[in-house]
Amino acid sequence: MTGEPVRSLRASIIAVGSELLTSTRIDTNSLTITETLDALGIEVRDKMVVGDRRADLAAQFRSALERSDLVIVTGGLGPTDDDLTREAVSDALGLPMDEDPSILDTIRRRFTSRGLRMPEVNRRQAQVPRGATVLANPNGSAPGLWIEHRTKAIALLPGPPREMRPMLQQLVSDQLSRRAGDVRLRRRVLKIAGRTESRVEELTQPTYSRWLSQTQPIETTILATPGQIELHLSTRGADVEAAERALDQAVGELEAILGTDLFSTDGRSLEEVVGDLLKRRVWRIAVAESCTGGLATSRLTDVPGSSAYVERSIVAYSNDAKTALLGVAEELIRERGAVSEPVAAAMAAGISKRASTEVGLAITGIAGPGGGTPEKPVGTVCIAVDGPVAVVRTFRFLGGREMVKSFAAFTAIDMVRRTLLDAPTDVDWIKKG
Ligand code: AMP
Ligand code: MG
Repeated sequence: MTGEPVRSLRASIIAVGSELLTSTRIDTNSLTITETLDALGIEVRDKMVVGDRRADLAAQFRSALERSDLVIVTGGLGPTDDDLTREAVSDALGLPMDEDPSILDTIRRRFTSRGLRMPEVNRRQAQVPRGATVLANPNGSAPGLWIEHRTKAIALLPGPPREMRPMLQQLVSDQLSRRAGDVRLRRRVLKIAGRTESRVEELTQPTYSRWLSQTQPIETTILATPGQIELHLSTRGADVEAAERALDQAVGELEAILGTDLFSTDGRSLEEVVGDLLKRRVWRIAVAESCTGGLATSRLTDVPGSSAYVERSIVAYSNDAKTALLGVAEELIRERGAVSEPVAAAMAAGISKRASTEVGLAITGIAGPGGGTPEKPVGTVCIAVDGPVAVVRTFRFLGGREMVKSFAAFTAIDMVRRTLLDAPTDVDWIKKG
């Protein structure tokens, strides 16, 4: 089957509840829904959070329905006066409300089974826009509703996540997968180290922009975290093999452009990649950290099974500790400063010698906000790897204390990777001048 580009369904999500507009409650339902729709190849076009106001909700709902094939609303299905989703949707669709005797019966039985009488307010939950299909709620009193209106589909789901989730799953097995057809979303995540977001963009954009207009179009988004840039590639289609082939081809093109700066195309984190490189050689690493306070080791040990290759780590924060625990000469620190390439190199050599490991890693720097000088401003960090070869580099990271620490820990682990691969270490954060 060759690909007529398949248009996937478009969805809007509306989270209803004034509490979701405060700083104390957060809309998590839309994340669950997005994950579910992604898996079905349904594109989430937009999402909104709307307070408990009937007119606002009706207006937002109407506009979502104009743009999207599917509108999923969560919340506002309870029995109280501030639960207005049913009413707002029936206003917007111009559908009258009928009382559904079977819903009323189910709610009444929920109460009597617990020895309670159903409060009269719960009667509102039996009001259903005409023509709607009732979605059972085994975990609460509010039933969900499924409405097919002209070419559009609408799902009204309860707000509490533990009630919403099972109902959504049921909807996936029934109405949703039927609507979504065979279209599925396939994606790849590429992880890049040592380059700024703008540099990655500059290098790759001319290539990935072409993919939008090919037979199997691929969408690319670029994301940055301290040290790491991610390229997310995704494509939709009924022909899963064609989708996978197009993604393989795209990943291959990016591999050629990015070289060893690209460290992962299979979901592995940087520390997993480095762990695998060490395991393959049956090598171990020991770490000496100053300004990162153990953060690099914490990351390395986030990987299950890292005890196979992480031998030890020392946080040598003071000059005395660098001398006593790592054997860095006092005069060297006095003459060159604790944040200097010779001290970083001595720390790495010291730890690997004492631990008898094949690889030593050391980090010393100025995380700020104090302690900077014109020659060594805040964010100056020296990183040394003592391994098959000895490498030491000085970097300049920008941002506050936490950012500098994160960048330094990530970049240090990446230096180990580059050293093990015999790859260039001239990354974008190298301090110039
Ligand atoms: P409701 O169905 O509007 O009565 O919502 C009941 C409760 O569900 C609220 O008090 C929230 O705690 C929770 N809730 C509602 N909407 C959401 C949402 N979008 N994400 C997470 N929790 C929600
Ligand atoms: Mg509510």
